[in-house]
Amino acid sequence: MSFVVPKPEVVSARVFDTKERFPVRRIFCVGRNYADHIAEMGGDPKSEQPIFFCKPADALVTEDRPVRYPLATERLDHEVELVVALKSGGVNILKTEADTCIFGYAVGIDLTRRDLQGEAKRSGRPWDLAKSFDESAPVGMIMPRERVKLNLKTSISLSVNGLNKQLGTLGEMIWSVNEIIQVLSNFYRLQAGDLIFMGTPSGVGPLLPEDVVEASVQGLPPLTLRILDRGLVN
Ligand code: MN
Repeated sequence: MSFVVPKPEVVSARVFDTKERFPVRRIFCVGRNYADHIAEMGGDPKSEQPIFFCKPADALVTEDRPVRYPLATERLDHEVELVVALKSGGVNILKTEADTCIFGYAVGIDLTRRDLQGEAKRSGRPWDLAKSFDESAPVGMIMPRERVKLNLKTSISLSVNGLNKQLGTLGEMIWSVNEIIQVLSNFYRLQAGDLIFMGTPSGVGPLLPEDVVEASVQGLPPLTLRILDRGLVN
């Protein structure tokens, strides 16, 4: 088969202890999944249902590659998140069966143009410009599910230039991984290769060029991210 423009490459992430890679099909994200973060953004945790948004697969950044400070923002924020990688999917998946869809877990950063998100919220517009931009989804190495034990006490944290900014536990998530897979599968036919960003604890804040970010979830390979100058627009 031939194509009228160059064929896009399959986007993929590294997997712990193997040269085989995880091909990324779609990136789903959960908003407002930690009560403290909802509070710092001015929301009411008790009234919220899960919010979903998507990033394009090619927003993925792997191998600890640095990212350029994005276009069209003066406020780039970090959000450290647990990322779930699916090996299978379906519709209307029961939360008791969601485990069987999970290939593994990784650390991710949901990079956010917070100023554009604020404008979108004020005017009731979609979040795409705030969330779905190039290089907005750095993800660490994926750890197969059977090689890591995550629990309610598992810590999730992020530092900028060695200073701790975000610290929480997976037990603070309002919606568990299995519950999110269930709800998401009521709206989408989930498939192998899908990633789900599970939301961020409190402590989100701005990044600047030259910042070095370390993101961790206990038991998973850590993620390092360096922010580069915006550079020349081309
Ligand atoms: Mn997020």
